[in-house]
Formats: sequence, C-alpha cells, structure tokens
Amino acid sequence: MRIEAYGEQGLKDLVKEMGQPHYRATQLFEWLYGHGARSYAEMTNLPGALRERLGAEAPFSFPEIIDKRVSADSTRKYILKLADGALVETVGIPSGGGAGDAGSAAKRLTVCFSTQVGCAMACTFCATGREGFVRNLFPGEMAWQVIAVADDFGMRVSNAVAMGQGEPFANYDHVLSALRILNHEKGLGIGARHITVSTCGIADRIRRFGSEAEQFTLAVSLHSAVQEVRNALMPGVAGTPLPALWDALRDYQERSGRRVTFEYLLAEGANSTDDALAALIDFCSGLSAHVNLLPVNAVDGSPLSPCPPERMGLWRARLERAGIEASVRTSRGADVFGACGQLKNARASS
Ligand code: SF4
Repeated sequence: MRIEAYGEQGLKDLVKEMGQPHYRATQLFEWLYGHGARSYAEMTNLPGALRERLGAEAPFSFPEIIDKRVSADSTRKYILKLADGALVETVGIPSGGGAGDAGSAAKRLTVCFSTQVGCAMACTFCATGREGFVRNLFPGEMAWQVIAVADDFGMRVSNAVAMGQGEPFANYDHVLSALRILNHEKGLGIGARHITVSTCGIADRIRRFGSEAEQFTLAVSLHSAVQEVRNALMPGVAGTPLPALWDALRDYQERSGRRVTFEYLLAEGANSTDDALAALIDFCSGLSAHVNLLPVNAVDGSPLSPCPPERMGLWRARLERAGIEASVRTSRGADVFGACGQLKNARASS
C-alpha cells in the first residue's frame, strides 16, 4: 500500500510490523507532513535499511502541480496530479494583507482542498458533479494538497477547508485522518477550529462528527430550505428530508456545543424568493447558525444565474432582523475558475 493511504495510527502499525521502535513512526510522520518531504532519501534520521524497505513496500510521490492560475485578487487555483494520474483541484486564498491581499503580504492563508476525485452528489450548480465519482482520496493525498499550496505561497496555512471536489462525509474515515494530520503539532499544526468540513448534509455522519474529540468546524451546503427546490439543486441528498437534516444538526450541536455555518448560493428565481427566505428563517429556528450568502457561479450549461447584489444584501438584513447571523461573501478567484470543478473541466475541453 502507498504511504499516503496511512493515517497517523496506520503509520504506527506499519512501523511496528517492520519491527521498528515506535518513535520511528513519529519521525516518519514528521517528515511526511511536518516537513513535506518529497522522497525517503530526505529522511536522513531514519536508518538506510528502513528507508529502502519503505520505498519498496510503501512508495510515494508527492503530487505534481500541473496547472496554476493566479487571480487578480491573489487567489491561486491549482490542478494537482496524483500518483495514479488522477487530477484534483486545490485553491489557496490569502487574506489579511491589505489592498489586493498580495500573497507575500498576506497574514493568513486558507486552503480549500478536495476529498474525492470527482463526486457522486451531482449538484446542478457544480462542474464537478457533472464528471461523476472516480475514487476517494487517501489521508496523505488531502494533506499534501495543503502542503503543496503552503510551499507555493511560502507561508504557513492558517485555515483549511474540505470544500473542494467531493463530498467529505462520503469518505469519512480518510477525511478524519487527514484533518488530524492537518491539526497535529508534528503535521501542519492548524488549530482544529480553523479546520472546516463542508458537507451536503449526510445526517448520520453529521451526528458522528459531533462526537469527535476535536473541535473541527462544520459547514452545511443548504442552498434551499424548501424540499423540492433542494432536491432539484442537490439530488445526491434528496434521500435526506430537511426535518431529518435539522434533527441531525440539533444533535450535532448538543454533542459538540458548536455553531454550524450554512452555505447558501443564491440563484436568480430558483431559491431566492420571499417564500424561500421564510423557509430558511424557519429552518434556522432552534439551531445556532451562521448563514453565508454567496452568488451562484455561472457554470456552462447550467440554467442558474447569480442574484443581483441588492437581493443578497436584502436577505442578509432580513436574516439579521430575524436574529440569524448572516454574511454576504464573494466568490474568490472567480476569474480563474474559482468554483469547484470549473478549472479542471475548462482544461479538459480546451
Ligand atoms: S458541490 Fe460538492 S458535493 Fe455537490 S457535486 Fe460539487 S463537489 Fe460534489
């Protein structure tokens, strides 16, 4: 098995099976994710014989950046090629650096990473949904996306978001292992509260996430609180009725004591009527929630078009009047195909 398939515990078991003392697993972990080593040859404090055996039995090759686009707002969008040739998208978003947020002056760097190659959820507003599901990513493949972006910017990553291609909770165990690598003091050392998982809303996994020891953050792509509209926008979760999602979120909050963020892409007409807003306010009642309003991305072949900014401002004001915290966000890097799946699809058709 390749080394990226192992999480922290897996590395410990592997090293033990090889008859090595346990501290070798810590050294190996630190080389892979603390230093972002590109080869076993770099791991100079591991014995030569162990490095050779690892190279033969658990080989690895760090993902290769095969495309990189830099937006006018300094967001960088990458396509990474994995060991089996699979391609994934990763985005680096610098912030806090004043005008233009130029990468070198930025104080914070958020990385949005993918959790699967392709995706089975088929959301109508998403380019990745069109390509279908290919495979789950391994923990190391997710952590390496974050390391590749940190290295390209030459700065540490302050926030990581599992919001790229794929449904993270459809790859739950590997995603949790990856989050722990990102959080680990000998890995990337990113605070748990600065690591967010964004899900379409798989009820039993939301409950499970609420029971994890770490204080990771949860975001749910809601996009409509009207069942038929949500089913049409997000057919992959049509089997989870909104009351079941609400119950799972309530349960998550009771277990974790944490607030949940709702992502809501506003599209002209479809999910932006007064009734849609009333349904959203009703859905948030009894939950501790923050609503992020975003304009839907114009994806080729999609009938959805973004709402005018005034409507987004109006929604935010009405949500706040109803006692629900809300923000209007812009889509960073939109000029370099910042929305999920768009860069990869644009390359494929060019
Ligand atoms: S928005 Fe996310 S969950 Fe939906 S199809 Fe795209 S990648 Fe999958």
